[in-house]
Amino acid sequence: MNVYRICGMDQAIVARLLSKSKYLSGLQCRKLLWTQVNEPTVIPTADIVTQHVFDQGHLVGEYARQLFPSGIMVPQDGFMENIFATRRLLAERRPLFEAGILSGTLYCRLDILHPVNDDEWDIIEIKSSTSVKDVHIYDVAFQKHCCRKAGLTIRACKLGYLNKGYVKHGAIEPGELFNLEDVSLRAEDAGTGIEERVLDLLDLVSNRACPKVSIGQHCLEPYDCPLRADCWAFLPENSVFTLRGGKPRQFSLYEQGIMSIQDIPDDSGLSRQQKIQKDCVTTGITHIEKDELRAFLDNLRYPLYYLDFETIAPAIPLYDGMRPYQALPFQFSLHTVEDEKAQPIHHSFLADGMNDPRPVILGELMRLLGSEGSIIAYNAAFEESVLTESVESSPEYTDWLQGILPRMVDLLRPFREFHYYHPSQQDTASLKRVLLSLTGQGYEEMGICDGMNASIAYERIAYGTATEEEIARVRADLIEYCKLDTEGMVRIVDELRRLSAPTR
Ligand code: SF4
Repeated sequence: MNVYRICGMDQAIVARLLSKSKYLSGLQCRKLLWTQVNEPTVIPTADIVTQHVFDQGHLVGEYARQLFPSGIMVPQDGFMENIFATRRLLAERRPLFEAGILSGTLYCRLDILHPVNDDEWDIIEIKSSTSVKDVHIYDVAFQKHCCRKAGLTIRACKLGYLNKGYVKHGAIEPGELFNLEDVSLRAEDAGTGIEERVLDLLDLVSNRACPKVSIGQHCLEPYDCPLRADCWAFLPENSVFTLRGGKPRQFSLYEQGIMSIQDIPDDSGLSRQQKIQKDCVTTGITHIEKDELRAFLDNLRYPLYYLDFETIAPAIPLYDGMRPYQALPFQFSLHTVEDEKAQPIHHSFLADGMNDPRPVILGELMRLLGSEGSIIAYNAAFEESVLTESVESSPEYTDWLQGILPRMVDLLRPFREFHYYHPSQQDTASLKRVLLSLTGQGYEEMGICDGMNASIAYERIAYGTATEEEIARVRADLIEYCKLDTEGMVRIVDELRRLSAPTR
């Protein structure tokens, strides 16, 4: 191994190292890497959703380490301490977790460095995904390059990722939970030219001027760039990136120099939905197809049941019968409307995190949903899949499930099919945007204002270390939030009835 004189290395020098995350940033976008190194305060701090992804990753890492019971966790008290400790521990020839390798200006921290043969090592990178992605290969290729530069002989590169077919029964079995895939050949390919790439990126970050980079698909892949709000700020309000139909179409228009939806030529092959969107944006007039809305409403059968689930999708299954990332319902809100003249009645359930909530939820719904009437959900495929997967671990509800699935109605459908479109919806038919455009009702004042935040808040109070006071507050916020989703559906249907009524 190389021997380094790195005493006194301060934070500023550490910031100038090319780590694997910086290398990957540089592959994604030169401007992003330059900014991370030279103007790090410009990068927004990780939001609660990003932090949650990190937290899941740490938990997955803990289970992966159980695959190597003789492994040693390299101390992580400080950057240099970790590197010095790694050098000491390499001599023990045992699996090392969180080994820090420094070679000149290259640095990487390895999830698992596994000794093989007399003096070789396997790099094992653990990912919380359920498949291997290209960016993972570039990740291990950098680690391999860094290790080799530091004098280690790398025999193989492997990726450990979650086995989506694993079903928990009893304690988690790490040997079953993970797929371990040898990606040595792909990493070798991805390492072709890495020496020059690394030199180029080091040169880039030492420049005083930020490189000019146009926006493009690289802003979204492999990761959503944290600088998007800034780099994309020049786009007009109704930019082509708010056109329905997906990113390739949007980028294709942008690359032709078309910025606004209004500027898209009529003969450019717009779909029916895109034409409606363009007309609405141009005129400011809402698009309403009364006959189609009436046909949709005529299919509804009283009593009406408006149902919404909130779920979490833990990387590590929490309860028996669950797979990685399976949606686990922890809450539902239900508004029932007996007949045309009746007022909606609200029911709700919110689990306490002590036990698997699915059997209780199924029992409650069986009691509340009766035997007839439409069950209305927004994006009903999700509610249907939650119910179906919940019944997999409570098969006594199978017959009941078969009875209610044909009663499900998707309230998203008229909006997805543009039987109603308001220009403020832009490229979404989400419940929140549709409710706002139809009724003016928003979620801004709520303690919890979207599904992802609801899930994270619930995980924190149910499985984290929240105080009694926080638990009480979050539970109240969750109940209010989920209630507004089904209340919103009731209001949307009422509004559709009003809009689709025949004019006299
Ligand atoms: S938003 Fe796009 S152009 Fe701007 S730094 Fe990120 S990837 Fe680069």
